Amino acid sequence: MSILPRKNELGFYEIRLESIGGLGANLAGKMLAEAGVFGLGLNGSNFASYGSEKKGSPVKSFIRFCEPDTEIRVHSPIEEPHVVGVFHEALYKMVDVASGLGPDGIILVNSTRDFDEIKIDLKMESGTIATVDALGIAVEEKTKVNTAMLGALFRVCDFLDPEAMKQVIRKTFEKKYPHLVEPNLRTFDKGYQTVNFKTYEKNHEATGVGFTRPLSQLGYLTQELGGVLTSQANSIQKDLSGSRQGFLPKFVQEECIHCAACDTACPDFCFVWKEGEDKRGRKQMFLQGIDYQYCKGCLKCVEACPTTALSDLRETLGYAESHQVKQSFPYVIGGIS
Ligand code: SF4
Ligand code: SF4
Repeated sequence: MSILPRKNELGFYEIRLESIGGLGANLAGKMLAEAGVFGLGLNGSNFASYGSEKKGSPVKSFIRFCEPDTEIRVHSPIEEPHVVGVFHEALYKMVDVASGLGPDGIILVNSTRDFDEIKIDLKMESGTIATVDALGIAVEEKTKVNTAMLGALFRVCDFLDPEAMKQVIRKTFEKKYPHLVEPNLRTFDKGYQTVNFKTYEKNHEATGVGFTRPLSQLGYLTQELGGVLTSQANSIQKDLSGSRQGFLPKFVQEECIHCAACDTACPDFCFVWKEGEDKRGRKQMFLQGIDYQYCKGCLKCVEACPTTALSDLRETLGYAESHQVKQSFPYVIGGIS
């Protein structure tokens, strides 16, 4: 009898991990596949796609399981997964994370939000949403989000053996980083134990979230006249918000002495200033706020700030948008929209 709970028409049980560079989804995918193949004797494959492979860019990791006697002759990205794991909710802005998930699929999200809110964001009609506070667990144990997500994924894929995974964690860390063995085992366990589930029943018409292949915004139909890009600089249009790994700086203007130590430490163009007059009528620049579009969440500004005007804050969805002060670039025109 098969231990795989479901299979597609080619005989595969398929998992897709959606993440951003730096959170360890690639490694998590590899460990998950190994646990199925070496631990349970399944046939399986794993690979990842991550473009420029830089920290903060979207990453996908794919895992296929099948019976030992089924040959794997498919090596394409997984378009219609049974399970999706979302490592970071900021991805919703850039990636259709639930793309191709069937009407009774399972999506595991690193989130502390309400199921119904997540369902709306993901445009899901039916299926199961699982949530785990992987970031909270990782902060508590001073480990990484991927180990907590791995624990949660083992709970979602309950045909896998968590004990086999714990052996892998021990083997990975004990030689070089023995002090990390126990925190990582605790992280895995907490991820496993603290998953919450909510299932939305499917009605007859539910078809799941259709698969959409992301396409470039510029093609032969949409290119500018003569193929020329009219925006003078692409760094102004870039959006680094997906690079943040759960925290951002919170700014309280009343506490600010406008010393610019934050701006000196900031590697990007986040701090927005405006000229004004001090108490004696002399011209001075006053800090207005942060343009979170350019903020990668490194928190160097918080370290540099001599007052309590800046502090680190766990990012919740929508905070950056509702608190951001936009930079003004009056001479920039064009761009892709
Ligand atoms: S967290 Fe980093 S990128 Fe964001 S404003 Fe502070 S220094 Fe700049
Ligand atoms: S370092 Fe702190 S006090 Fe100085 S300008 Fe920045 S936010 Fe204000």
